[in-house]
Amino acid sequence: MVPPEAGRNPAGRGAPPARPAEPEDRAARRAAAGPKVGILALQGDVQEHAAVLAELGAEPVEVRSPEDLAGIDALVLPGGESTTVSLLLASAGLWEPIAARLSDGMPAFGTCAGMILLAREVLDGRSDQRTFGAVDLAVRRNAFGRQRDSFEARLDIAGLPGGPVDGVFIRAPFVERAGPGVEVLAEVDGHPVLCRQGPVLVAAFHPELSDDLRVHQIFLGGL
Ligand code: GLN
Repeated sequence: MVPPEAGRNPAGRGAPPARPAEPEDRAARRAAAGPKVGILALQGDVQEHAAVLAELGAEPVEVRSPEDLAGIDALVLPGGESTTVSLLLASAGLWEPIAARLSDGMPAFGTCAGMILLAREVLDGRSDQRTFGAVDLAVRRNAFGRQRDSFEARLDIAGLPGGPVDGVFIRAPFVERAGPGVEVLAEVDGHPVLCRQGPVLVAAFHPELSDDLRVHQIFLGGL
């Protein structure tokens, strides 16, 4: 038997639902325990990001299903294969809720495949590959070519004290086009590899694989 409608909505049909006290709760928790940062956990590099975030005082949370998004303040999209992650996001039912959070302004940090997923346009992708379009970039997959499939580069990051950062690049994308709203923070061979647009930071390299915490610090500094 179907329970009566009124039982589900004691305030009566048509009455607006009580306003949840969530924003204050979230602010209080952030002050007490650091921001709760989701890490998309459909492929690799999750533990590495979690370790860096925890060391910097954030609370890492693995995200595998839509329920895991509840209460997170920001989201990290790690490396992997962007084509595979794009399919896994859809089959996990995560595509729409993440897209909605991003368009609400949730801060996000994408590394390598995560950068591709957050970009507006992907070149050399699969025809069915989707992206969130949260940052106005066109990125080319595996763009550094075979001979440089993986390499390290010393990166001068705009405005970052303490000298260059060691960037670990693994079959990395680079940026072919950056829109006018995008801030380029570092480049390799004239191609942007660290960019920010509003609350979204993207890196073509893997800052979670070096001992340097400063790129994650840039991300957390914006929360
Ligand atoms: N080449 C991968 C892709 O196109 C990215 C590699 C990585 O994340 N390390 O998605």
